[in-house]
Amino acid sequence: VKYVYDFTEGNKDLKDLLGGKGANLAEMTNLGLPVPPGFTITTEACKVYLDSGEEPAALRDEVSAHLAALEEQMGKKLGQPDNPLLVSVRSGAKFSMPGMMDTVLNIGLSDKSVQGLAEQAGDARFAWDSYRRLIQMFGKTVLGVDGELFEDALEAAKAAKKVTVDTELEAADLKKLVTRFKKIVRTEAGRDFPQEPREQMDLAVKAVFDSWNGDRAKLYRRQERIPGDLGTAVNVCSMVFGNLGPDSGTGVAFTRDPASGHQGVYGDYLQNAQGEDVVAGIRNTVPLAELEQIDKKSYDQLMQIMETLENHYKDLCDIEFTIERGQLWMLQTRVGKRTAGAAFRIATQLVDQGLIDETEALQRVTGAQLAQLMFPRFDEAAKVEKVGRGIAASPGAAVGKAVFDSYTAVKWSRSGEKVILVRRETNPDDLDGMIAAEGILTSRGGKTSHAAVVARGMGKTCVCGAEELEVDTKRRRMTVPGGHVVEEGDVISIDGSSGKVYLGEVPVVPSPVVEYFEGRMHAGADDADELVEAVHRIMAFADRKRRLRVRANADNAEDALRARRFGAQGIGLCRTEHMFLGDRREQVERLILADTQEEREESLKQLLPLQKKDFVELFEAMDGLPVTVRLLDPPLHEFLPDITELSVRVALAESRQESHENDLRLLQAVHRLHEQNPMLGLRGVRLGLVIPGLFTMQVRAIAEAAAERRNAKGDPRAEIMIPLVGTVQELEIVREEADQVIAEVEAATGVELKLAIGTMIELPRAALTAGQIAEAAEFFSFGTNDLTQTVWGFSRDDVEASFFTAYLEKGIFGVSPFETIDRDGVGSLVKAAAEAGRRTRPDLKLGVCGEHGGDPESVHFFHEVGLDYVSCSPFRIPVARLEAGRAAT
Ligand code: PEP
Ligand code: MG
Repeated sequence: VKYVYDFTEGNKDLKDLLGGKGANLAEMTNLGLPVPPGFTITTEACKVYLDSGEEPAALRDEVSAHLAALEEQMGKKLGQPDNPLLVSVRSGAKFSMPGMMDTVLNIGLSDKSVQGLAEQAGDARFAWDSYRRLIQMFGKTVLGVDGELFEDALEAAKAAKKVTVDTELEAADLKKLVTRFKKIVRTEAGRDFPQEPREQMDLAVKAVFDSWNGDRAKLYRRQERIPGDLGTAVNVCSMVFGNLGPDSGTGVAFTRDPASGHQGVYGDYLQNAQGEDVVAGIRNTVPLAELEQIDKKSYDQLMQIMETLENHYKDLCDIEFTIERGQLWMLQTRVGKRTAGAAFRIATQLVDQGLIDETEALQRVTGAQLAQLMFPRFDEAAKVEKVGRGIAASPGAAVGKAVFDSYTAVKWSRSGEKVILVRRETNPDDLDGMIAAEGILTSRGGKTSHAAVVARGMGKTCVCGAEELEVDTKRRRMTVPGGHVVEEGDVISIDGSSGKVYLGEVPVVPSPVVEYFEGRMHAGADDADELVEAVHRIMAFADRKRRLRVRANADNAEDALRARRFGAQGIGLCRTEHMFLGDRREQVERLILADTQEEREESLKQLLPLQKKDFVELFEAMDGLPVTVRLLDPPLHEFLPDITELSVRVALAESRQESHENDLRLLQAVHRLHEQNPMLGLRGVRLGLVIPGLFTMQVRAIAEAAAERRNAKGDPRAEIMIPLVGTVQELEIVREEADQVIAEVEAATGVELKLAIGTMIELPRAALTAGQIAEAAEFFSFGTNDLTQTVWGFSRDDVEASFFTAYLEKGIFGVSPFETIDRDGVGSLVKAAAEAGRRTRPDLKLGVCGEHGGDPESVHFFHEVGLDYVSCSPFRIPVARLEAGRAAT
């Protein structure tokens, strides 16, 4: 195996091996862009190290060979006293990961070579500044010294000299600071700062490897569902210097605005500085556009490179660059993170520019982003007090209690409070708090600050750089213009789409994307915004591409009509038990309590017209589209009063010697029907078999409703679905009765109904005997809620509250199996049952109506196993349509 690649040897498709940063440095090198020479140590080397605790035997020699070649090319040796080659060591995993060691600059400097650098650059101040940065970064990230100690020493040096910015420190001051820093290292790390350049480099490489398993990196991976065994690559890159005077500098840029998607000049530049200064916000950056005045040649070149990169990557790129004495260098590029809205806009813009096609456009957006765009927003008209405005860094409307540190954010959110994390600026130590918070507010830093970048990545609301707010983290408060003080625990609202900050709780209004789906805003209309246009077009791409049909879980006309507006192609699950709630409950109670056949028939007769009316309305709302009506499913005791309440009532009545015959009868019935495990008890098809006439009443209601709609020139497409079937015999019995009722209704009305009868597959036995069950079913609908419950043996009503948090924390699963289909377990049963069913009945229709039907990841799975449709709640239909389209590309 080859563990080291020169930048000229890689390319952007080798991210697994070279990490994102390494692969893109190689790509830029091969595009002929000005990248300082260097090499990448592969993730394979990291994996060997993580597995065995030792670097692969061949690595040292390979690094030596690449270093020798680099030295040859640069005409100087690493750390050479009179003319040192300096390198940066930077981590770079396949996915960019905050919390991992990032960068050590200026490796190769020592007490000796700092002199050489001073002479070579003709600038002693620069050399000593570079050296103190090395000790600081190396001390912090490689040797694990608390970074604040260095910061404090730097502050002290500035204070002693009565200056405010670090550029005002002179060579002699920095030289003293180096001595101070070395002492800090010795005391804190128990060793001297290494003077041997190669040792510096090797230790830094190892520290990058180790940082893969740092706590924050692990937390981030769990959050983002990044596998734990990928490892990171390490980039060793020859140094170029942005801190060589006013004709030098460093900056970050986007090829488009990551918030709106608009093309333009977006970024920050900092004169006479090295990389970490920009992110750390030590001095104020200037907008990138000002670089045109500072250094027109570099600016023009940068604009051209940005265009080259966009055309090459065919996407928004973000970049880091450095200018060394008028010479521009590219230090990094990658396809940039963006807000959900920008993702849709950019995808359509790129189609219009002819850079990508519709299929590719679908890969540039996700269902999760669409879901985010459907969140409500703040009501602009609400009378609330705006107290500040920062940069709209990551959209959304967040309301919560202000907290000023990560620890409190986590603690309060665990106890159920909604919090907004308020910081001057965030750093990787704040990650837990950012995850726990509804939103993040900072008073410093721009669109490329840590808070902004991480929040966007997490899809979390963020306003950053709200400079009018004075954040005092020590006293846990912030002061807003006018002097009002927000204490810890006071409610604030932040709008990540406008950057506005409000006191108190701001009411929210629906998003324009929902208004569009609802048909209250139209693409192409004057008032439609760019986002709605983009969503409209992407949805059209998805609908053209997808094979899966999308239906809704709905059981009343209102939901059905909304589902239809949202693009539903039918109803995949009408839960009829929802039709028996409210004032009809008493009638059901009477049915359950009926002692005689007459009583039972009487109550069924009363229920029939009510059910029929429900179905007429539903079939009318869904005219021309299939409506799968599921017969009654839940345990009967759900329709009876609470056992404790009733017992108390009976006992009270007895003690008062009042009459209580009815309650007593009810109590006996409740006792009779009480089950220890109702989920595994008398429900679904079992009810139908135990209570004579119940299912046939429902079938009659469906059939008569369909006939009525047909006579009214409608086009009802009802399907009858039997729940909780475990064996084909159950289905056969119900079917026989149903067929008879349907025949009766057909005879009586003269309408030929063609009602399909099918079943849910939601028990393991049903899945395992799907081949037999298909003999009696014209369709299957997978009930993955119950199937997950019974395959795992997890109670769907209890687990999320009891042990799932522990399971998620231990990484047993990255996400609840009730949310995303467990491909290996539940999923493999679905796949096998689908195949067995189709072997018996090639035209068997297959769908899914569990919650998974609206989950992006799961939709892809159902596409892969060849289902005909997914069914989900009305609000998730657009997401399911989009993901079904993406799955088909
Ligand atoms: C299921 O079990 O997946 C299902 C759709 O039915 P219910 O959620 O009503 O049990
Ligand atoms: Mg079910």
